[in-house]
Amino acid sequence: AGVLYVVATPIGNLGDLSPRAVEVLRDVDGIAAEDTRHTAGLLTHAGIRTPLVSLHEHNEERQVPGILSRLQKGEALALVSDAGTPLVSDPGYRLVRAAREAGVRVSPVPGPCAFVAALSASGLPSDRFLFEGFLPARAPARRRRLQALAEETCTLIFYESSHRIAAGLEDMAQVLGGARPAVVARELTKTFEQIQGGTLASLNTWLAEAADHRRGEFVVLVAGAPDAPAQTLDPEAERILALCLREMP
Ligand code: SAM
Repeated sequence: AGVLYVVATPIGNLGDLSPRAVEVLRDVDGIAAEDTRHTAGLLTHAGIRTPLVSLHEHNEERQVPGILSRLQKGEALALVSDAGTPLVSDPGYRLVRAAREAGVRVSPVPGPCAFVAALSASGLPSDRFLFEGFLPARAPARRRRLQALAEETCTLIFYESSHRIAAGLEDMAQVLGGARPAVVARELTKTFEQIQGGTLASLNTWLAEAADHRRGEFVVLVAGAPDAPAQTLDPEAERILALCLREMP
């Protein structure tokens, strides 16, 4: 029977391609890749010659039936994206859903994921978190989204690109408050990796300080809102309660 492997690839450092990922990518009949040219580079680096087929955001709907029929004929295929774990702010959801609905086995080959890497090194609470992916590109929609997250008490995690990091962080400071602890993780696993902590206000200053700070790929993590204070009674209710307690046997 066919099988679809969902294979994580490096987010910058080629050394992070796991031995099992290499083995699976080498042994499958074909690889569905977000950008076949980009993945061809990775395969060359690993000495792999498996044929590629394109599967990206704009052709996924059209490509799924063909890939699915190959799986149903018994082929083993792999799904990769340009970086990190497929389906995490990346294409693949439609294919995985279709494969599972058709009873095809889907098996993950886990590995790098930018937000997990960032969270693991951020020092922010990691027991509960909310992964938001990319915020909307346009400012009004972005602010509305942030507004909807303002009361969340778990750690918030966002993806940002170099051309929107400044605007995104500025809106976060405005909507969530400049005092919120936050961490900007850029260029993870690469030469210029930087994990900068502070408050949303101080991180805005840090971004403005040097063009280098705004280059590359970013994960932004923001501490959740403080837990709502425990319900307290108003003073009059406290006084009456105390009187009642005194009268009780
Ligand atoms: N599937 C990927 C994953 O598992 O993380 C994410 C793909 S998404 C299209 C690309 C975004 O991930 C970038 O804009 C950036 O926000 C984040 N990202 C990817 N690689 C990164 C890195 N090396 N350092 C920081 N952020 C990264």
